[in-house]
Amino acid sequence: MSSYSAPLRDIRFALFDVLDVESSFRHLRFEDAGRETVDAVLDEAARFCDTVLAPLNRVGDEFGVRYDKDDGSVTTAPGFRDAYVQFSDGGWGGLAAPTAYGGMGLPHVLGMPLEEMIDAANLAWGNFPLLSHGAASALLHHGEEWQREVFLTKLVSGEWTGTMCLTEPHCGTDLGLLKTRAEPNGDGTHSITGTKIFITAGEHDLTPNIVHLVLARLPDAPAGSKGISLFIVPKFQVARDGTQGARNALRCGAVEHKMGIHASATCVMNFDGAQGYLIGQPHKGLAAMFTMMNTARIGVGMQGLGLSERAYQNALRYSRERLQSRALSGAKFPGKPADPIIVQPDVRRMLLTCKALIEGGRALSYHAGLQVDIATHGASEAERKQADDLLGFLTPIVKACLTEWGVECTYHALQCYGGHGYIAEHGMEQLARDARITTLYEGTTGIQALDLMGRKTMQLQGAGLKVFLGLVQSFCEEQAGNAALAEFVAPLREKAGEWQALTLSIGKRAMSDPEEIGAAAYDYLFYSGYVALAYWWARSVAAADVSSQPQAFKDAKRETARFYFARLLSRTLAHKAAIDSGPAPLLALDEAAFDA
Ligand SMILES: Cc1cc2nc3c(=O)[nH]c(=O)nc-3n(C[C@H](O)[C@H](O)[C@H](O)COP(=O)(O)OP(=O)(O)OC[C@H]3O[C@@H](n4cnc5c(N)ncnc54)[C@H](O)[C@@H]3O)c2cc1C
Repeated sequence: MSSYSAPLRDIRFALFDVLDVESSFRHLRFEDAGRETVDAVLDEAARFCDTVLAPLNRVGDEFGVRYDKDDGSVTTAPGFRDAYVQFSDGGWGGLAAPTAYGGMGLPHVLGMPLEEMIDAANLAWGNFPLLSHGAASALLHHGEEWQREVFLTKLVSGEWTGTMCLTEPHCGTDLGLLKTRAEPNGDGTHSITGTKIFITAGEHDLTPNIVHLVLARLPDAPAGSKGISLFIVPKFQVARDGTQGARNALRCGAVEHKMGIHASATCVMNFDGAQGYLIGQPHKGLAAMFTMMNTARIGVGMQGLGLSERAYQNALRYSRERLQSRALSGAKFPGKPADPIIVQPDVRRMLLTCKALIEGGRALSYHAGLQVDIATHGASEAERKQADDLLGFLTPIVKACLTEWGVECTYHALQCYGGHGYIAEHGMEQLARDARITTLYEGTTGIQALDLMGRKTMQLQGAGLKVFLGLVQSFCEEQAGNAALAEFVAPLREKAGEWQALTLSIGKRAMSDPEEIGAAAYDYLFYSGYVALAYWWARSVAAADVSSQPQAFKDAKRETARFYFARLLSRTLAHKAAIDSGPAPLLALDEAAFDA
């Protein structure tokens, strides 16, 4: 079985040394988020994840969820319910929620390490509270006050969980196709009818009620995505004064059998005239849903990071213990029958790839999380807008890169085990199976790439990119006289210039050929992710050098950064070449000739 121990030292390093969140918290007036509080939160979160959630990871994979077709109920794996009770008793679901609705009112960025630890410990379990955050966020920003008081408070306290009901059998990426109907009842409620599929935590036995947020069409809705509205549809009806009533007309029709995250309930949900309340304006549901999806997208990025971390920890331990062959330059451990495999450059390639992507990805994603706090509590409109632009730009990068790197890292970690990684005993194959979904749900990697390239970069004139490049430029200027950092600053400066030029050249070509965007998007996303990580690695070395961390930690940061710049940043060359080749190599082959 794979094990997990929360990497608190690196989490603290990312938060306090690299990001200097203490200054941000003072600036944003988070009076209760002093160092002692944050340390206590991290320690307690680590304890919960290491000792309660992590041991249930294998149990969940083996048990899955049990569906009873007679009553449509779903039973979760042994231990899941008790863990959920501990989670909600600890107030974890409301860590960053406003105190007005029962939350702790702590900075959103502290939810990032919490999510990372939960996902590393037990991704399938983490899916139950994950979507409550998204639902809470949609209610907070778009709900009426009574809806917040009745539903949001229950999601924040963890008494109920939330879902996101978007997908239908014929409608996944393209939500404009959705058919679920909402008929007004004339009393302020609506009757919702339709079938949603793949609904995470759609039915379970963890809480007495479940708050479904459902996309549906009103009778007068225009066609396409402009005719979608968002509704609150609880499993048990709830009156405006919060009183819980009869069972609503909805039911789980089946649970899916999946490649991974077996213990996460992926449900077909049938709504048969279920009572629901409209959230926000009619036909504006997609905007409200995007609030929910953005929260969830960053959350899914953390799933990729968490799984990478767990896989890496196990692969590292195994690579130190497994004795096979000798180092090519001669025995490194002559007293042993063979050297541990960690002496081999190829094994180091895999371990260092994981380490570099994880630690760089941690700084990148926590920084994105901090933008949520600045966008909400920034001192001026300009500061809030800048953070919002940056957050919008970073969200698809965090979601897609961290999840694709999660797949890569779990595969590298499995590979370090050789054949022992492929068999179930060590738990490495579970991590690889679990990681795969993260690149699919909440918008596939291809869709994140289009969001970054099309909406966030082209339509918004690169507003977020400009903010990010501004950060890179300031950092390079600050460090210009620091000889110890020159080996990182020079290539970073060069890549930042290339990134800007590349963006402009795609934009220019797209004016005469719209296919340029789709053809460039995937490679542009990863190009951006690798350059962004170069910035975070350069900053990590700079932060480590001036920190009070032990010398071995500082050296490890520098050597890992060297590995990153030498071996991973160079992936941008291939991405740039692919972008420069334009749409022709992708589109020239006639659709009918693919099997010619
Ligand atoms: C385990 C699991 C849990 C899920 N949980 C939820 C949930 O809680 N709530 C919910 O509503 N949904 C959920 N989903 C659904 C998930 O979000 C969708 O599966 C996903 O968004 C993709 O939709 P699709 O499967 O219909 O694929 P499609 O939309 O059919 O896409 C198929 C392929 O075509 C590509 N593609 C489609 N359109 C374009 C385009 N315009 N440009 C480029 N490429 C394109 C996609 O990237 C993908 O590779 C879940 C799915 C799974 C498997």
